[in-house]
Amino acid sequence: MRYYDNVVELIGDTPLVRLNTVTAGIPARVLAKIEYMNPGGSVKDRIALRMVEAAEQEGKLRPGGVIVEPTSGNTGVGLAMVAQMRGYRCVFVCPDKVSEDKQHVLRAYGAEVEVCPTAVAPDDPRSYYSVSDRLARELPGAWKPDQYANPNNPRSHYETTGPELWEQTGGEITHFVAGVGTGGTISGVGRYLKEVSGGRVRIIGADPEGSVYSGGTGRPYLVEGVGEDFWPTTYDREICDEIVEVTDHASFDMTRRLAREEALLVGGSCGMAVVAALEVARRAGPDDVVVVLLPDGGRGYLSKIFNDDWMASYGFLDSIGETVAGVLAG
Ligand code: PMP
Repeated sequence: MRYYDNVVELIGDTPLVRLNTVTAGIPARVLAKIEYMNPGGSVKDRIALRMVEAAEQEGKLRPGGVIVEPTSGNTGVGLAMVAQMRGYRCVFVCPDKVSEDKQHVLRAYGAEVEVCPTAVAPDDPRSYYSVSDRLARELPGAWKPDQYANPNNPRSHYETTGPELWEQTGGEITHFVAGVGTGGTISGVGRYLKEVSGGRVRIIGADPEGSVYSGGTGRPYLVEGVGEDFWPTTYDREICDEIVEVTDHASFDMTRRLAREEALLVGGSCGMAVVAALEVARRAGPDDVVVVLLPDGGRGYLSKIFNDDWMASYGFLDSIGETVAGVLAG
């Protein structure tokens, strides 16, 4: 018999897949790390597991405890999964720009979801940061993983994602590209790859236009899960050799191309990261190996990025015709 004891054991060891079509004319190899293959459907399963294990070991989370976290959905799914295995209750607080699909997924796993306005300052009592702080203070047995400040977030990537990439590429990876949200992925993977390669691997962050990482003021943008309006401590400000700024329009255009041309149904931050990766790959040589991490799948975005009416309402739809024309011409 071959089986796993529970779904948590399926976390990590995700595959690398070469991008073949959107890379037309680019000599460097571009490989995508497919994080939707994790059992909860995103890269965040990795940090959920590591943060819960550490909290148990440190005595911060005890039997019957409640996990309270502000999350755009993916971290919630990971936490809900791990919590269910261990008998904890989960309460998630998310901004109202998060798709309803994602909120329903969290509730399906048995979690409670509280929705807060996106367009208020982080220190406003209505913000999802403030509301989650209050719940963590006032609910008995509550523990807040705080993915924006928990060192086990980047550590999980230093211990799993980074070593996987080094091993999967036989040490030939030359560039690593990822979107920056909490910064956990890029900081953990980046530190591992810099150490193991003696500083040879270049680390490139992808960031939505408007976010602080690429010099913005934190003004709103539509791509979910990446960019910030403050500097989280999980982000190592020394780690990136370069930050590439990407517009919502370009991110969503590429997200749709990945589904249509590479059969990769992925989320908007994946399209954003691929836009940045292709920019980097265009400047790279034929022996270079550019790896881009794709954080989640596209099913949570069907009513937005993959919905023509929603795209048209933001003036993003014109690019579909151009994309088709581009493929036919190429
Ligand atoms: N994409 C999506 C969809 C996410 O949910 C996140 C996590 N906020 C990221 C990218 C960014 O990852 P990180 O927090 O590790 O920087």
